[in-house]
Amino acid sequence: MISLKSPKEITLMRKAGAIADAARRACGAAVEPGITTYELDAIARKVIESYGAKPSFLNYNGFPASICCSINDEVIHGIPSKKRKIQEGDIVKIDVGACYKGVHGDCAATFAAGVISPVADKLIEATRQSFYEGIKFARPGFRISDIARAIQAHCEGCGFSVVREYVGHGIGRALHEEPEVPNYWVAGHGARLAAGMTLAIEPMVNAGGYDVKRLSDGWTVKTADGSLSSHYENTILITEGEPIILTAQLAEEVI
Ligand code: MG
Repeated sequence: MISLKSPKEITLMRKAGAIADAARRACGAAVEPGITTYELDAIARKVIESYGAKPSFLNYNGFPASICCSINDEVIHGIPSKKRKIQEGDIVKIDVGACYKGVHGDCAATFAAGVISPVADKLIEATRQSFYEGIKFARPGFRISDIARAIQAHCEGCGFSVVREYVGHGIGRALHEEPEVPNYWVAGHGARLAAGMTLAIEPMVNAGGYDVKRLSDGWTVKTADGSLSSHYENTILITEGEPIILTAQLAEEVI
């Protein structure tokens, strides 16, 4: 069942989202050659806890860290490690969730370490832009599949592919709720959108083919062909009008 959020839940989700975004920005500012993914994890955790929130991912299904940090051909769910140093030219995906007073915010972005290749740059921008193409349809009257189709069309139009095996999701009192939010179009797939729904929309986009494989650590997902991958995510609220991005720096200081 898809839950519609109450005004009180939405107020709390704005805070959770703003905290997750603050952690994402802090990590993004810290990405540079030489830093370890463990240090990035510590930065995110410190930001989240400074606002009285908890990292949503820590211990989620046994995940051992506060962020997922995935580099280059790693798509999602990379585990931070003291042994993993960012190198010049890497593209670094930071995925972070914050739980504030029982509700979650979830967001991700891909950051460049130093100078990256032109194709990496194009991939990051296409992924980010596909999110904004998708949310043009995030309003009552459309379906989940309309968002998915717009994301897919933009990415494929740029010469890239969208991951099939992992998708976005509803979010609220649970980190992952119904409905699934794919980044590709499936005939007949998708609930009708209604005001009060909160969704984590998260295009995962590969420079090569869309197939992925999971590593033996049980978490890290890589592209099957070794090509670069990019990720961008925000938690949004469906309203009667324009959608609201909840994982955003708020004008008023609510956190
Ligand atoms: Mg998510």
